[in-house]
Amino acid sequence: GEKIQMIVPLVEIDGDEMTRVIWQDIKEVLLTPYIDLKTDYYDLQLKKRDETGDRITVEAAEATKKYGVAVKCATITPNAQRVEEYNLKQMWPSPNGTIRAILDGTVFRTPIIAKNIKPFIKTWEKPITIARHAYGDVYKGVEMKVKGQGQAELVFTGQDGQVESKVIHNYSGSGVVMAMHNLDESIESFARSCFNYALDQKQDLWFSTKDTISKIYDHNFKDIFQDIYDREYQDKFTTAGIEYFYTLIDDAVARVVRSSGGFIWACKNYDGDVMSDMVAAAFGSLAMMTSVLVSPDGCFEYEAAHGTVTRHYYQYLQGEKTSTNPMATLFAWTGALRKRGEMDNIPGLVQFATDLEQAALDTIEDGIMTKDLALLAEGEKKTVNTREFLHEVKARLGRG
Ligand code: NAD
Repeated sequence: GEKIQMIVPLVEIDGDEMTRVIWQDIKEVLLTPYIDLKTDYYDLQLKKRDETGDRITVEAAEATKKYGVAVKCATITPNAQRVEEYNLKQMWPSPNGTIRAILDGTVFRTPIIAKNIKPFIKTWEKPITIARHAYGDVYKGVEMKVKGQGQAELVFTGQDGQVESKVIHNYSGSGVVMAMHNLDESIESFARSCFNYALDQKQDLWFSTKDTISKIYDHNFKDIFQDIYDREYQDKFTTAGIEYFYTLIDDAVARVVRSSGGFIWACKNYDGDVMSDMVAAAFGSLAMMTSVLVSPDGCFEYEAAHGTVTRHYYQYLQGEKTSTNPMATLFAWTGALRKRGEMDNIPGLVQFATDLEQAALDTIEDGIMTKDLALLAEGEKKTVNTREFLHEVKARLGRG
């Protein structure tokens, strides 16, 4: 039949290693035969970032701001070993960090659930999405070792010269001390991204902090969320039939473990770091985690939560066929195409994204899967390589 036409281009951000190979395979087998793909392409493979002095990463983020929807392949964040391997001019920063800073966005991570892969927590039937505030707190903490007797103080000097200070502790012996900070502006962006995403997903939003102990710091997070909710989102939530629910983090943990899932859990930076790994581990596999960066003004960047799967890439370079799981990368594409379809009012594109996700889930539920999942799945199963998996999905897509 006729290929699906697009109106506004999707920002396509290519990446590195095994995921770069899978990227091409997904496009070739499952996308371009059905869609007249219109993309604004940015090649973020490490070599290109090095050649452009990382300008390409900034351009990709700016294009995402302009068009509103992007899909991104996993990329290498260089370390000392990569600087040598790729003979880099310098150790470029994490592209995800650069893009997130430009879009001022929040990352939402959601597991893909198949019936034959049971979560370790039996009651979890629907996905739990974790939203992690990605600025400040302990990640920008300033710490010191206290060598012996003395007094530690917290001092703020205003631009007008006014000084406010508090005693932290009177040390009678050695110890440690730390100060951390956050910004109302960043917390407000985080709150708006969370409220917008909850509306987008039509799911309840939970938020938790330790405000009973941290009566000023954590309480400030709680107040900002409540204030923005009351002023900007209450009516929209009521119309959508969803709820905003604040609770103490201890209570949240207890409720999450006993829940059936199907909500978004907003967490402060450290809580989100820990809880997203807990949720990923409990749902089974990093290869089944999708991730979307949502800006407070409504831009969306979809990607897999995993990295470039380096170990498989070296096998691939040896000429081996690898059984790398393409699900999270495929769902990054379907997420982005669906969003583009919704924004541009192209029902055929939205339907295609839904059909493709269903075909992929049907494949796994029929027992056909990559090696990583075969270790976790119940029932009969057949292990296939990545290309074979994609062709099995295509066979179940039921389109010419
Ligand atoms: P990784 O996610 O690539 O791999 C971690 C482990 O999970 C490995 O054992 C790998 O074999 C397995 N795994 C991950 N995804 C899989 C999949 N789809 N199918 C089968 N197995 C899978 O993380 P890493 O090894 O820590 O990092 C490799 C590279 O990826 C690094 O250069 C790092 O900088 C980069 N990275 C990028 C992103 C991103 O772009 N979002 C995120 C994490 C890591």
